[in-house]
Amino acid sequence: MNLPTQGLHHVTAIASDGSANLRFYRDRLGMRLVKKTVNFDVPGSYHLYYGNNAGDPGTALTFFLWPDLPPARPGVGVTSLTRLAVPAGSLPAWAERLGAQQIPFTRERRFDEDNLFFSDPDGMALALVERPVGEDTGIIGFDSTELRLRNPAPTRDLLLAMGYQPHARDGKRERLIAGNPAPHGQFIDLLTDPDAPGSRQGLGAVHHIAFRAADDAHQAALQDLAETRGHLPSPVMDRHYFRSVYFREPGGVLFEIATDQPGFTVDEPLETLGQALKLPPPLESRRAEIEAKLPPL
Ligand code: ZN
Repeated sequence: MNLPTQGLHHVTAIASDGSANLRFYRDRLGMRLVKKTVNFDVPGSYHLYYGNNAGDPGTALTFFLWPDLPPARPGVGVTSLTRLAVPAGSLPAWAERLGAQQIPFTRERRFDEDNLFFSDPDGMALALVERPVGEDTGIIGFDSTELRLRNPAPTRDLLLAMGYQPHARDGKRERLIAGNPAPHGQFIDLLTDPDAPGSRQGLGAVHHIAFRAADDAHQAALQDLAETRGHLPSPVMDRHYFRSVYFREPGGVLFEIATDQPGFTVDEPLETLGQALKLPPPLESRRAEIEAKLPPL
């Protein structure tokens, strides 16, 4: 079995307010809402998915809406940055766009590239970087996530075992590249921060990051790898749009291995993705009760 993943499948974060979240990601950043559903484990709360037109693996930024949580406390053991890829040459247009929308941003060099750094309404750290794919100026999908760790060595070992390879260094940061890299979502950055406090989960935090499995056999191989290394992976869970295995990496970040199949068109056509509230079959019989609990978007 070939272990190397193509890179990131999706990133799931925690947000407070669905309407503000939708305004920011759909209306201001121009991402498509590709699925409106509920958290399958907490069906009284929304789970919103944004992505490219089809919400292809490597493009899906998703949010649990848990308004009762306190703001996240930044620190080690979490993802400290979610970086999105935009087409080559489009960063100046993005700087104008963010400015016009009163979204404060900074421009900084990282790994010898220009990045625009900004935050979402809950304080989630985001960046944009140019990649030679895509057209126009729209967000293509993920570029990378950054894991902030006191000691990155055990996390690095795990990622290397998952097929990642050393790619670049920039001060306290090391960039790894997927062994079978997709055109986007192929990088993981490890930020070494030995003196940082521990983080606390909350609004604006990334809840977990998911890596792509090409199919069920690939997922099983990665699950075996996690088990062999003592990371206590979950059984395979049916997430309706993909099948998932979860485990916590040694630095504290929750990892998921998600299959590329079946994707977001499993329960609605491509043209109308994200318009209706979709529930997986086990929850459909409780639709009235679930809808009554959800705030309007
Ligand atoms: Zn997930």
